[in-house]
Amino acid sequence: MLKQHIQELQQHPTPFYAYNLSLLRQTLQAAKQEAEKYNYHVHYALKANANEPILTEMREHGFGADCVSGNEIKAAIANGFAPKDVVFAGVGKSDAEINYALDQEIFCFNCESSHELSVLNELAQKKDKVARVALRINPNVNANTHKYITTGLEENKFGINAWELESVLALLEELKHVELIGIHFHIGSQITDLTVFKNLCTRVNEFQEWFLAHNIRLQHINVGGGLGVDYYNPDEQAHPDFEAYFALFNQFLELRPGQEVHFELGRALVAHCGTLVSKVLYIKNGQNTNFAILDAGMTELIRPALYQSYHKIENLSSDKEEVKYDVVGPICESSDCFGKAVSLPETSRGDLIAIRTAGAYGEVMSSGYNLRDRAKAIYY
Ligand SMILES: *Cc1c(COP(=O)(O)O)cnc(C)c1O
Repeated sequence: MLKQHIQELQQHPTPFYAYNLSLLRQTLQAAKQEAEKYNYHVHYALKANANEPILTEMREHGFGADCVSGNEIKAAIANGFAPKDVVFAGVGKSDAEINYALDQEIFCFNCESSHELSVLNELAQKKDKVARVALRINPNVNANTHKYITTGLEENKFGINAWELESVLALLEELKHVELIGIHFHIGSQITDLTVFKNLCTRVNEFQEWFLAHNIRLQHINVGGGLGVDYYNPDEQAHPDFEAYFALFNQFLELRPGQEVHFELGRALVAHCGTLVSKVLYIKNGQNTNFAILDAGMTELIRPALYQSYHKIENLSSDKEEVKYDVVGPICESSDCFGKAVSLPETSRGDLIAIRTAGAYGEVMSSGYNLRDRAKAIYY
């Protein structure tokens, strides 16, 4: 519980991110244990949080790295990940990023279009190399999550659509500097309904049949990430149900002998271990509501403004009667609001406020808007 750490937390200038490393380790241990039951490989999606101590934990627990930019590949390698454990995804890889990844001889490029395959082939040819690729296929499976974090529908910009595959195979025949080793899927994020993953398995099985019918044996099946966390009850469910998640893939995914299955988890591994800690600057009584104005805003945590996402908010300093507040930041945007009509113990200037489950897509998405200072990170 965060309140137990209040003495320590009070010593730091707010706002700051506080990461509970023992909770992180418990989470990684649980994920690793369940994945190992089936010999599954888990790559950590760096974009969720790329802080060094977190990357170190990931590496020490044996996870690979799923990167979506050249700088993420650099960060992974700088933090000790072996290039053979690095995959590179993303719909818009630049030439410089591809060249860097080729030089590092990373494990695999997850390619999202035939145009990208041609460019990759050309760049690899110049270096006299052969790049390993997995085709990111858009399976047209609805993730039932917020529309901004849905990626597996044909209307989304991601992946190669089923009807393009025939021409992609014809192209691959001609490209001598790329080698097809697998297929890749990633249908969205914050998926809490496991039947969505069951639907994904069904689609993957169909694609496998399609490739076999074209005489292609795939070594790698990469089913992406997207497993959600419970933002409403961070203490009751300290990490997602990895047991049910991996067991579902084991039950429904039809594998051929020797095939390896890769996962790319981000949020599920790091969301709960991070908290944004802020201080109340002012209380303002409005017409119908009270505002608690914090010294943290959408510059530190943009998720509520960007995806209307919920974060549990707690007052660590007060035990008084509960009152309702709109909890807002200092930024000149009306979307700069962490929660409306939030019940909090009566709150005063100087109280410490915890915005929970902010370890994923929190600090990494922070910005310098309004020329604000970057929040620091502490680890406990
Ligand atoms: C973002 C992303 C992930 C991780 O998603 P989570 O929802 O955080 O698990 C995995 N793979 C790809 C390709 C991604 O873009």
